[in-house]
Amino acid sequence: MHLNPYGADVVNLAAELANRRPASAEELADRCRAAGLVLERPVAPQDLDRALEALTAWEEVVDATDEEARADLLNRMLAAATAHPRLTDHAGTGWHLHYRDDRQPLGPLLHALIAVGTALHLTGRGMHRLRRCAVTECATIFADTSRTGRQRYCSQRCANRDAVRRHRARSTA
Ligand SMILES: [Zn+2]
Ligand SMILES: [Zn+2]
Repeated sequence: MHLNPYGADVVNLAAELANRRPASAEELADRCRAAGLVLERPVAPQDLDRALEALTAWEEVVDATDEEARADLLNRMLAAATAHPRLTDHAGTGWHLHYRDDRQPLGPLLHALIAVGTALHLTGRGMHRLRRCAVTECATIFADTSRTGRQRYCSQRCANRDAVRRHRARSTA
């Protein structure tokens, strides 16, 4: 099994890791496994460093204020981490495309996976569909995979919180 970069799996994993950054290479590996990623090599401390670097670059993509800037930043991530596309059946579950070299350590693998997965998500669903929660003090990152593409909050809890606040602001005005 592998993460489907055409689905929402990869951007959701990136957001999950960026919102709560892993503290060790082991934690990183565990959370990637829990998301469905098959690790073909043992993890090393430098995998954590490389993954955190990738997440920092990715947060700049999230915080880009217009589509041009967002595309530029993401192109930089793609240029730094991806290889020419190749067909692979490494897990024996069917042929699919990889945009990275085979048998990469987890750090560079994540960098490539996040760059490609985010590029596919944004070009496939809409360039605006990656953002932080509209509740200022929340700032949680999420990928908008909603039908309408107008999701503003990371969770129902934040949506309710903001609705209550707006209601209060109206009634005291
Ligand atoms: Zn694969
Ligand atoms: Zn929120």
